[in-house]
Amino acid sequence: MKQSLLFTKTSKDTPKDEVSKNAILLMRAGFVHKEMAGVYSYLPLGHRVIQNIKKIVAEEMEAIGSVELLMSSLQEKVVWEKTNRWDDEQVDIWFKSKLQNGTEIGFGWSHEEPITAMVAKHLSSYKDLPILVHQFQNKLRNEVRAKSGVMRGREFIMKDMYSYAANEKDHMDFYEAATQAYTKVFTRLGLGDITYVTSASGGVFTNKFSHEFQTLCEAGEDTIYVHDSKKLAINEEVFTDETLSALGEVRESFNPRTAAEVGNIFTFGTDKTEVFGARFKNTDGVEEYAYLGSYGIGISRVMGVIAEVCSDDKGIIWPESVAPFQVHILSLGSDTEATELYTEMKKAGIDVLFDDRDIGAGSKLADADLIGIPYRVIVSKKAFDAGGYEVKKRIDSQSHVLNKDTLMSILISKKYD
Ligand code: ATP
Ligand code: MG
Repeated sequence: MKQSLLFTKTSKDTPKDEVSKNAILLMRAGFVHKEMAGVYSYLPLGHRVIQNIKKIVAEEMEAIGSVELLMSSLQEKVVWEKTNRWDDEQVDIWFKSKLQNGTEIGFGWSHEEPITAMVAKHLSSYKDLPILVHQFQNKLRNEVRAKSGVMRGREFIMKDMYSYAANEKDHMDFYEAATQAYTKVFTRLGLGDITYVTSASGGVFTNKFSHEFQTLCEAGEDTIYVHDSKKLAINEEVFTDETLSALGEVRESFNPRTAAEVGNIFTFGTDKTEVFGARFKNTDGVEEYAYLGSYGIGISRVMGVIAEVCSDDKGIIWPESVAPFQVHILSLGSDTEATELYTEMKKAGIDVLFDDRDIGAGSKLADADLIGIPYRVIVSKKAFDAGGYEVKKRIDSQSHVLNKDTLMSILISKKYD
């Protein structure tokens, strides 16, 4: 894409009323637009990052058998009354409204109830199970505080997956597969080394805990106790002697760290399926209730966490897997040659942004650092005289002059070092 087509402007200044690093960087670089506190729109560059995150998540969910659907945002009150979560004091984040005729409705902050009510209509036999579904959906939550930028939004993008299994064993097998799939997701997102499977409160039935995926991040809202060598953690909410002994661990092995919850997985047992009649006939023809599991990933929060942990004083440093483009071509007074290179890269299937704008070299360089595309290629007379193009990885400080063939083969094979 030609950068002249991007209507978004970068900014040197910290936006007013914004305290969080992720929002400041994402707004300055033109990835998001703040509509109001806790509400952000995704601009072309930000949208590309979101799409890349979603793609990785979708691939890993599909790999364990889940099928994508899309539930509605408007929800019926009666559905939530069945589980006493319409007027529940603990659910203090409802946005509610009324139809013209006075009927109350809710805006989806979660989908366990409506999805279980829906699944109940499609489930009759053990042969229908497991049912594994996921969606990417904008959740609406009237959060009290919205000071963490895109990491805590009043409107945010979530991937939520639901599993319905015939029995506890099948449920736990899928729960384990989902844990592995989540681990793969965060590795592919470039967060693998700093993301911990964390025991947390909230599990019901056999499983004493739910599990959160917590990424070490100063801007996070949680404190977790980390066991470094075993790569596991315990949320401070449940960091008790009882928890430690249930896990066969000792207090001394753990250190407190600040982290952000990027995902969580949860067992509901048959609590909700009993309420909504999500039952099936087993092999003996006897009716049983399905076991429900629920698995979230905060897609937009992940984008914020990446901006927080993958950045320096110049801007963002996107991991290749989620970067809006792989290559950023900067023409410094060599437009014809730069256009040629751009055309060639596009032909080779390389995702490239071409800074063809008629602005000074300093601004182009500063913008490239702020936007944070993994490879920067400068096309200039100086580089030609030195034998080709000046190539620099965003994470490196050193640049190299490479000829076209070498550059193209590196970008196609992604082997730079
Ligand atoms: P938290 O503890 O952060 O409030 P939660 O436990 O309410 O989150 P879930 O309802 O299970 O979270 O949502 C699944 C995932 O969605 C979370 O793990 C988190 O990554 C993300 N998420 C939750 N609330 C928000 C929000 N307000 N803004 C952005 N992402 C969110
Ligand atoms: Mg939580």
